[in-house]
Amino acid sequence: MSEDVLIEARDLSVHYPLRGGSMFGPKPVVKAVESINLDIGKGNFFGLVGESGSGKTTLGKALLQAAPITRGTVGYNDGEVKFDLTQLTPADLKEYRKRAQLIFQDPYAALSPRMTVRDIIAEPLEVMGLTSSRDETDARVREIAEKCRLNLEHLRRFPHAFSGGQRQRISIARALVSRPQFVVADESVAALDVSIQADVLNLLKEIQQEMGLTFLFISHDLSVVAHICDHVAVMYLGRLVETAPTRELFANPRHPYTKALLSAIPSLDPDDRGKAQKLEGEIPSPTNQPTGCKFHTRCPYVTDHCRQEEPILQHSSTGHEVACHRWEELMTP
Ligand code: SF4
Repeated sequence: MSEDVLIEARDLSVHYPLRGGSMFGPKPVVKAVESINLDIGKGNFFGLVGESGSGKTTLGKALLQAAPITRGTVGYNDGEVKFDLTQLTPADLKEYRKRAQLIFQDPYAALSPRMTVRDIIAEPLEVMGLTSSRDETDARVREIAEKCRLNLEHLRRFPHAFSGGQRQRISIARALVSRPQFVVADESVAALDVSIQADVLNLLKEIQQEMGLTFLFISHDLSVVAHICDHVAVMYLGRLVETAPTRELFANPRHPYTKALLSAIPSLDPDDRGKAQKLEGEIPSPTNQPTGCKFHTRCPYVTDHCRQEEPILQHSSTGHEVACHRWEELMTP
C-alpha cells in the first residue's frame, strides 16, 4: 500500500442474503457493492456520486467497518497505524473507531433531544475514554466547537433551539472531537436549505485543510461535489464506472452515465438548456442485475457486446479510469 494512500479497497464486495429462493438453487442476494478497487489519498476530499440505489452509502459504511464485507480487503494506513479492516481484532476496531468517523445526513434525527450540545459533542470522548478529566473533556469540546463556528454560550442549550445549519455544525463537531483521520460525510448537506449548504460546505473544506483530514463525501448532487472535492468516483449499481480528478471528470467525462448525470445539472447558460441527456428508466434492482454492462438497460449506445460482457475499469496515467467498452469511440467528435 503506497504511503500517500489512506484507504485502499481491493475487490471489495458487500452482499446481503435474502430470505426465500428455492430449496436447491442458490439463495438470492443483494449485491449492494461489487468488486470495488479504490484508493483514497491522504488529505484528499474524495467525492462519491450516483443515483440513490447505486451503493454509495453501503460502500461508505464498509470503509467504516459498519457494513459486513463479503469479499476483498480494505487497507488503512495513516502513518501511525496500519490495519486490514477485514482482520481487525477488538482492540484494533476500538482504535479504528477513533480514527474513522461519520457525519450523518439528517441533523434533526442525529442529535438526541435530551442532551445538551456540550454533552452531545463530549459523548465520543467519554465512550472511547479519550480524556481523563471533565476539565480536559470541556477543553476539547470548546476547541472543536470554536473550529465549527459554534457559539460557546450555546453549549448549554438543547438541539431543538437550533436551525438545520447549526445542528449540522454540532454533528460535525461531534464527529471531529475524537480527532479522526478519515471522515465519511454521507449526504451531509442534502437536508439543508440551499442558502445554508454553501456555508456548511465551506466549513467542511476549511476544517479538512486545517486538520489535514481525509474525507469521503457521498452525494447525489454533482454541483456540490464539483464545489468541494479533489477527486470523484461515479457509482452505478454497486460498481465504480468512472473515477478522475474533479476538473478532469467535469471537463472530459467518458462514461455515458457520468455524461447523463452532468448534463442534468441546471445551467444558467440559455444555449445549454434543452441539451440535457435524460436518463431513461430506473436503476435496476440489485437482486436481479442485468448481464454484461450493468448500465446497458439505460444506455443509448448499447451494443450486443455490452449486453454480454461486463467492462472493467481501465486505468490511465492521468488517473482517469472508466468502465465502458465504447468510451474512446464515443469521445471522437
Ligand atoms: Fe453503454 Fe456499452 Fe458503455 Fe455500457 S459498455 S456504458 S452499455 S456503451
